Amino acid sequence: MQSSDQSGGSSLPKRRYLRIAQALLSEIQQGGLAAGARLPSDRDLSVKFEVSRATVREALFAMELSGAIVVRHGDGTYVADLSRGLAQRSGHEIGSTPEHVIAARLVVEPPISRLLAAGPGDIDLGEVQRDLDIATRLIDEPAQLPDFVNHSMAFHADLAAMCPNHLLNHFASELVEIDRQPLWVLINQIILKDREKRVELIADHQRVLDAIRSDGPEAAEEAMKAHLQRNQTQLFPGHEGAEQRPAPRRESGVTIARREPMTDSITGRYVQVTPDPAHPHADGLLLSGTNVPEIQNCLGAVTIPAGTPKTGTIAHATSEVMYVAQGSGRLHTDQGVLDFERGQAIFIPAASWHALENTGDEDLVSVFSFPLPTRPPTKADDAS
Ligand SMILES: [Zn+2]
Repeated sequence: MQSSDQSGGSSLPKRRYLRIAQALLSEIQQGGLAAGARLPSDRDLSVKFEVSRATVREALFAMELSGAIVVRHGDGTYVADLSRGLAQRSGHEIGSTPEHVIAARLVVEPPISRLLAAGPGDIDLGEVQRDLDIATRLIDEPAQLPDFVNHSMAFHADLAAMCPNHLLNHFASELVEIDRQPLWVLINQIILKDREKRVELIADHQRVLDAIRSDGPEAAEEAMKAHLQRNQTQLFPGHEGAEQRPAPRRESGVTIARREPMTDSITGRYVQVTPDPAHPHADGLLLSGTNVPEIQNCLGAVTIPAGTPKTGTIAHATSEVMYVAQGSGRLHTDQGVLDFERGQAIFIPAASWHALENTGDEDLVSVFSFPLPTRPPTKADDAS
């Protein structure tokens, strides 16, 4: 029994770090921790929240990715200067699934665009355009991804705030705020890591804004609906809800995006991938959202030849599991070293620094998986 879990039996333990992140974000929001303030140490936070230091690190990692804090290695963790966002949130919202949130937004946001388009002269769309312009300038700055995500979400928050129907305004604002929680920001950042997706998003937003300005209620409602449906498709590629998007690729006779070095054979919804050892793929992913639209996790394999130096030290936003298919080696972690051999499986917690080393005299083959359809956001330790 975990003393810190007061959620009463719901299946939340793996989200404990989100509750810590939420609590810290609330403290920041309420001014208890000002911009530039230094956060207490991992150790102090783990005592305060009665959780392990690993959980604290996960929370801080999510917050760092969401842009709420800045980690300066060898120095400390500081509150970022956030001019917007981080409104106070209640815990129950964390339990909403991404499917629920996007479905609810599809109900609420298109009518808001419709209402705004009925009287575009009554509202000041300048602020919305400014956020859009800032996000546009950030498209080509992958390092500014958190900022880009922030400004993109501000687009929806701004429109909601201008809605003359205050109830709709309130619903939409609540929904958009959920999207600003660390986990959601993370999901958005994963999708928007693709430059192409960022360009698409900005084009969508501009279309919505132009429609509100000058195309009338009908077109404005349609534009927002199309945009949110596109979001939905990106978040849940296997989702059947939207009627207007192109047919998903899973029907028989599908063509699935092929990766050159591999052979994909498709039987109904089964996908078989045969890696070509002569052309190993750079990221090592065999099954991912790239070749399996409905997949929810990914599977990869990496071969580390004998005699090569240990890999760089990295940490992922999610946990990772690995299986040693061949050879033997050593995992260097932030908590010591772990020697392993063929046939063993290893769990690597989220946000944990680790590096792989082949200590044997044959190739080391490691099979790995993340609980996401793609590689999670990953940091490399500059010092290593
Ligand atoms: Zn949007």
